[in-house]
Amino acid sequence: MRYESPATTKEACTLLAKEKGTAFVLAGGTDLLVKMKAGMVEPDLVVDIKRIKGMCDIKKSASGFVIGAATPNAALSENAALLKAWPGVVEAAQLIGSKQVQGRCTMAGNLCNASPAADSVPALVAAGARVVIAGPKGKRKLAVEDVPAGVGRTVLKKGEIIEAIELPAKKPKSGDAYLRFIPRSEMDIAVVSCAVNLSIDGKGVITAARVSLGAVATTVLLVKDAAKAIIGTKLDDQAKAKLAAAASAACRPIDDKRGTVEFRTEVAGVLARRAAEIAYARAGGK
Ligand SMILES: Cc1cc2nc3c(=O)[nH]c(=O)nc-3n(C[C@H](O)[C@H](O)[C@H](O)COP(=O)(O)OP(=O)(O)OC[C@H]3O[C@@H](n4cnc5c(N)ncnc54)[C@H](O)[C@@H]3O)c2cc1C
Repeated sequence: MRYESPATTKEACTLLAKEKGTAFVLAGGTDLLVKMKAGMVEPDLVVDIKRIKGMCDIKKSASGFVIGAATPNAALSENAALLKAWPGVVEAAQLIGSKQVQGRCTMAGNLCNASPAADSVPALVAAGARVVIAGPKGKRKLAVEDVPAGVGRTVLKKGEIIEAIELPAKKPKSGDAYLRFIPRSEMDIAVVSCAVNLSIDGKGVITAARVSLGAVATTVLLVKDAAKAIIGTKLDDQAKAKLAAAASAACRPIDDKRGTVEFRTEVAGVLARRAAEIAYARAGGK
């Protein structure tokens, strides 16, 4: 196996594109190294992106935040502006693993590992985040929800890497939240998860919303019907009931020892309601 640690994105893409065998990007390695140790993958080439300029930076501008793809999750909550603007995204990222894992793992790696239960992904989707993809043919941008192609698969082509995650600027009177259900209190994978991002007007009426679900289908779901159920409302009980019903209706979960189809479907509605309440309060609603 060859290990490369290029200094530029272009070099990284060229290395990945030219490799005839199996090639992997290495960010935090908290998924990749585990899989290598378990013999699940045997790379011919590993391209470490952490030395590339800007890959570990969080930049704030008028249009939002640009988070370098190798930024460890531990750095997210240390960024006061990011935490203030997108608490749901930061909290979702912070749920991943332990302190040691946090010092290494990245949101881009979480997305590219393409587990349906990835914690940061629903929060990024609800936030309307996009990824900047660099490849042999230049750069392109995609909505986060368009990156996973199935369990363990993404739409990234040979030689392409995610260079950064873009989060939009926080809208006035808006809030986001992420919740997951796990049987233990920590260090577990989501059985069901839900993220809500919403904006309200001066009277507390919801003017825009995005609702996403994790671990209830092969990829993260953006549930437009769930958002529609609360737009135009003050998140009253009727709106919350409709939101929960729409979230449950969107579920296409697996049935396994960690959760039955019925359980995951029910809990998706419960989490949607609770996440919406938190997001609404964060937006300044009562
Ligand atoms: C003890 C432990 C607990 C965990 N708990 C959780 C949890 O609670 N919730 C959860 O969601 N996950 C959890 N994970 C999984 C893992 O930590 C996350 O998925 C993490 O975010 C992966 O990020 P990484 O930077 O370490 O990715 P890596 O392991 O470096 O990469 C993961 C995959 O993505 C690819 N990749 C990485 N970055 C890029 C890029 N920029 N462009 C293209 N491809 C890329 C790699 O080639 C690889 O295939 C846990 C892992 C461990 C070891």
